[in-house]
Amino acid sequence: MQTIIHSWFVQGMIKATTDAWLKGWDERNGGNLTLRLDEADIAAFQADFHAKPRYIPLSQPMPQLANTPFIVTGSGKFFRNVQLAPAANLGIVKIDSDGAGYHILWGLEDHAVPTSELPAHFQSHCERIKATQGKDRVIMHCHATNLIALTYVLENRCDVITRKLWEGSTECLVVFPDGVGILPWMVPGTDEIGQATAQEMAKHALVLWPFHGVFGSGPTLDEAFGLIDTAEKSAEILVKVIAMGGMKQTISRDQLIALGKRFGVTPLASALEL
Ligand SMILES: [Zn+2]
Repeated sequence: MQTIIHSWFVQGMIKATTDAWLKGWDERNGGNLTLRLDEADIAAFQADFHAKPRYIPLSQPMPQLANTPFIVTGSGKFFRNVQLAPAANLGIVKIDSDGAGYHILWGLEDHAVPTSELPAHFQSHCERIKATQGKDRVIMHCHATNLIALTYVLENRCDVITRKLWEGSTECLVVFPDGVGILPWMVPGTDEIGQATAQEMAKHALVLWPFHGVFGSGPTLDEAFGLIDTAEKSAEILVKVIAMGGMKQTISRDQLIALGKRFGVTPLASALEL
């Protein structure tokens, strides 16, 4: 019989965390990743579950996510180690029937706990479920180098950063027409930054934390990873362009509008109008 290590969701988490590590986005214990599952995904693997699942109360109840299982990265765990020891670095948690806490069904061995950004993830999941009629299942946080670098140089405004990233690569407007949200600098790992992130996630699939990193969401691990990868590629080009003395020419507003028309997306109006 297939064990849970070979399931699509454990293998998917291994691939996403390993790729993110190789990209240089997840030094030390930087970054965290959660994937919303269905009961049917985990039902076949109950033989692998802990005999006595630990129960952990949530700092903020999540009744909207009652009875929902997630696979998550662990607190203090290094992305580069996930491929070596999945059960030590990943865990499957299931929120209880009233949303007050969750049980650790599998993984997070040796008393490990889920990522300290769990409030930001769960609150963001709630908003993305609403924004996408249940399609989005993944929240990914990482320290994408060039996106972070840009937050030191560009005005920290959603419309400004969105417009620059759209200009940084032709594919961007098509991949993230809703633009990129941005928070003020805040202390990470708190309910407050979770709430602020989720508020932006209601409008944007990508949210920047200045001088820190990025949150991305999507229906699959591939889509969430690809979204961050696309924005980070554009950010890398912008960093090079700014380092070479700045843009001498760029994609015009009319050209951005034409792109949106051709690919059937509605670009964020405030970024288009700049
Ligand atoms: Zn971080």
